[in-house]
Amino acid sequence: MGTLFVISGPSGVGKGTLVNLLMQDDKSLVLSVSCTTRRPRVGEVNGKSYFFISQEEFLKRKEENGFLEWDEHFGNYYGTPKSFVLEQLKTHSVILEIDVKGALQVREALKGSPVEPVLIMITPPSSQELINRLSGRNSESMTELLKRLKRVDYELSQKDAYDYVIVNDDLNEAKENLEKIIGSEKAKRRL
Ligand code: 5GP
Repeated sequence: MGTLFVISGPSGVGKGTLVNLLMQDDKSLVLSVSCTTRRPRVGEVNGKSYFFISQEEFLKRKEENGFLEWDEHFGNYYGTPKSFVLEQLKTHSVILEIDVKGALQVREALKGSPVEPVLIMITPPSSQELINRLSGRNSESMTELLKRLKRVDYELSQKDAYDYVIVNDDLNEAKENLEKIIGSEKAKRRL
């Protein structure tokens, strides 16, 4: 059985870039693709970035207990497909890139099951650096940007609930730290 790694961190912290680099180097890992009702951003691909589904479809799947966890951000729903993750875990380690509330829900949902998730939070070197990165991204309107910034403090305040915290100052260093954690957690569970 594989290990479930849950990676979170505030918007703009670079977790998407880190996870992409990780997936390129370690082909044994499987990335779970979440469902969302938000509109695709330029360059996002359905089935790769997210499964972009309607609100109606999302609520139907939620009713059918189809999500391991779900949450609402900025007026849109996001959820982790349950059967995909549990099926993949039989043979692979799986990465979830989800927000803090979702990560805590996953831990709760799996309590008492053989799957013990490892929670990893990616943090910025400073709040100012995060503001610079988010404003430079140009993918959100000012209103959306402000909403995202408001959420940052909440997300960072939850870091004690995580098993590991990685500061993303230097991307390569952060990636190395992430790889070390994944390697040692996988090894622990094989004993
Ligand atoms: P974005 O719209 O920038 O892609 O994502 C907004 C937030 O939703 C991010 O914090 C991201 O980690 C989170 N997110 C993405 N997928 C999921 C999911 O399946 N579940 C939960 N709870 N959050 C998610």
